[in-house]
Amino acid sequence: MAQQEDVFKKIVSHAKEYGFVFPSSEIYDGLSAVYDYGQNGVELKNNIKRYWWDAMTLLHENIVGIDSAIFMHPTIWKASGHVDAFNDPLIDNRDSKKRYRADVLIEDQIAKYDEKIAKEIAKAAKRFGDAFDEAQFRATNGRVLDLQGRRDALHERFSVAMNANDLNELRQIIIDEEIVCPISGTKNWTEVRQFNLMFKTEMGSTADGAMTVYLRPETAQGIFVNYLNVQKTGRMRIPFGIAQIGKAFRNEIVARQFIFRMREFEQMEMQFFVRPGEELKWFGQWKEWRLKWHKALGMGDEKYRYHDHEKLAHYANAATDIEFLMPFGFKEVEGIHSRTNFDLSQHQKFSGKKIEYFDPELNQSYTPYVIETSIGVDRMFLSVLCSAYDEEQLPNGETRTVLHLPAPLAPVKCAVLPLVRKDGLPEKAREIVDELKFDFATHYEEKDAIGKRYRRQDAIGTPFCITVDHQTLEDNTVTLRERDSMEQTRVAIADLHKLIHDRVSLASLLRKLR
Ligand code: ATP
Repeated sequence: MAQQEDVFKKIVSHAKEYGFVFPSSEIYDGLSAVYDYGQNGVELKNNIKRYWWDAMTLLHENIVGIDSAIFMHPTIWKASGHVDAFNDPLIDNRDSKKRYRADVLIEDQIAKYDEKIAKEIAKAAKRFGDAFDEAQFRATNGRVLDLQGRRDALHERFSVAMNANDLNELRQIIIDEEIVCPISGTKNWTEVRQFNLMFKTEMGSTADGAMTVYLRPETAQGIFVNYLNVQKTGRMRIPFGIAQIGKAFRNEIVARQFIFRMREFEQMEMQFFVRPGEELKWFGQWKEWRLKWHKALGMGDEKYRYHDHEKLAHYANAATDIEFLMPFGFKEVEGIHSRTNFDLSQHQKFSGKKIEYFDPELNQSYTPYVIETSIGVDRMFLSVLCSAYDEEQLPNGETRTVLHLPAPLAPVKCAVLPLVRKDGLPEKAREIVDELKFDFATHYEEKDAIGKRYRRQDAIGTPFCITVDHQTLEDNTVTLRERDSMEQTRVAIADLHKLIHDRVSLASLLRKLR
């Protein structure tokens, strides 16, 4: 684990050193849990967004996009339940003065039991070798049974407390489990309190006339309140979906782990409107489609898992997370929720406007049910970065730091490098750049020895380096170096476009989703 933490620290500093992610307002000592994307980060982020957007709107005839405003009428947040219930339970440690989410402290404790059980199993597997039967070991080993029993009891107690919103019980669980503050090491805890996560601001010029508005904590409500506009103007028939990418804001109590939990972040959400009664079928379908989208990136199928929710939000009748194996464990990257007709019904009630759909096939009107897929751009970015980062031992004893980014997501697709800065090589290299730049993000670089330039491109994940040498001037061939294998092949300049396109185009990725 300590090793994994080291890796994570290295990823964070790599992200800064190579222009992916900078702490916000750094020259003023930063702003907690807010980050800026640099020259390479913005490209990677845009590519992730494009992959999602195209997968939604190009591959599904019945999904269209919108871009709604961040500010919305404040009653929307009353109707959605955010004003009253978008809370996290917080608890302070009196000695360290550090603030925690009570639910997260308990979830971490449950994870500790899981880790202990996994350790016992790994130890036994080593001892018994091929003859090891994990199911039997779990069913009979005294220590594992004891740990599992304590874990399950804790889990049950926690679920009940969360479902009942019982803050005293959450505190009692923390006391009974003897959970200590990781900073002070003490159990000197305050009461548990609810904390609303929405940011408020004022709209309007005069103090009297100003209206309190919220920075949206999710993009979904912009879709719900435009549902009828899109349905009517786009002549959409159920089932159909509306997709949106945009900023969301949450005043997170504990903002840790870099861009995993931010106060300003970006979401990619799609609401899929279906007939009542068909929602669970569509929920299953979207679960499958979304995992396929993730896996198509080729970052390793074993790094994903579903986490089905036991505690369902009051409006949901099924929910699951797609979790990704980050250096700090399996973590939620995307949520898929069956939200029933809760949101549309609430907006109907609060606005007094009819939001129904007339189904010509059934010859009846109803409020559609909704399946939502909701993914954080920044979390997706983090999962891609963590999975790509590698310190590779080379046969010559050196190490190279390389980002094995999925090629269609890489910020720079190819770098054109004249071997030396003379003899007409730079001019020839520029000619190649001028050909390629219309289709691919192309870098030109002439400074430093060629090996150093390769390393710099490896560090930002550039899939191809094209080297122009003296032979190029004679026969119009170049060397094409592939990032992951470091293999160099001699190819004709005329073939470059196709070779690169086959590997880096987004279309090649989208085709895998068919
Ligand atoms: P968590 O349990 O981690 O707080 P959540 O269940 O509240 O997340 P949702 O409301 O389902 O998250 O939001 C959908 C997605 O938005 C999440 O899967 C995540 O990728 C992203 N997201 C949510 N909160 C943040 C945040 N503070 N910073 C970055 N991304 C976030």
